Amino acid sequence: MALNVIMLGPPGAGKGTQAERFARRHGLPKISTGDILRDGIKQGLPLALEAKERMDRGELVDDETMVGIVRERLSRADTAAGFVLDGFPRTVFQGRALDAFMEDRHNGPLIVVDIVVLEDELVRRLSTRRICSKCGANADPTDTAATSCGHCGGVLVYRTDDNDRVVIERLRVYAENTRPVVDYYRERPTFRMVNGAQPPDLVAQELEVTVVDAARAGAAVSLGAPRQAAG
Ligand code: AMP
Repeated sequence: MALNVIMLGPPGAGKGTQAERFARRHGLPKISTGDILRDGIKQGLPLALEAKERMDRGELVDDETMVGIVRERLSRADTAAGFVLDGFPRTVFQGRALDAFMEDRHNGPLIVVDIVVLEDELVRRLSTRRICSKCGANADPTDTAATSCGHCGGVLVYRTDDNDRVVIERLRVYAENTRPVVDYYRERPTFRMVNGAQPPDLVAQELEVTVVDAARAGAAVSLGAPRQAAG
């Protein structure tokens, strides 16, 4: 059965970093909708260029565009053993579209992980974080002196949507649109929370144990065992 994981959590919770690590460890594709959009902008694709203004303001890109992007990406052969989705769904509309798609796919349950971090810590992280201009990886936040990417040597830059005003807007947009997505999934046996306020290695360890446990619960449900309460 495929390992289909989605990472929820506010901007700055460490979703991208953890999704990347988890995907690498399990040999799964990490699919980040933010990365897909940023790549599209670099390539000058019209749909992505249209999205750029909204991204730079910290607003969400429209649901139809995002559902189209994810549908296409999840239809590719490299997702047969599963995937790790980072940054999608961000609205209940997108969550419903993903459920419909998963039903058509018929390839294992959806494991939903919510990475939880308090708002003060998020603002601090977001206003100091940098990414690689070449491969898009997050820079190590503890190594503030580094100027180049530890993976590919590309130059580290601040994201254009990480200035203070935009950070506040992104957190507001998260509370309004994306927190309801957490509630949309909360009662499922495959929903789990992970403490994102720990050092990244500990978050990764907790995530690993948590996903294995959720996958077991998901398999039990699809085999007809009685539903367990989400923990
Ligand atoms: P991220 O790298 O995930 O923080 O995404 C950066 C920006 O891309 C977001 O602030 C949105 O403007 C846009 N974006 C990424 N994923 C989505 C999505 N699922 N729905 C709407 N907008 C998105």
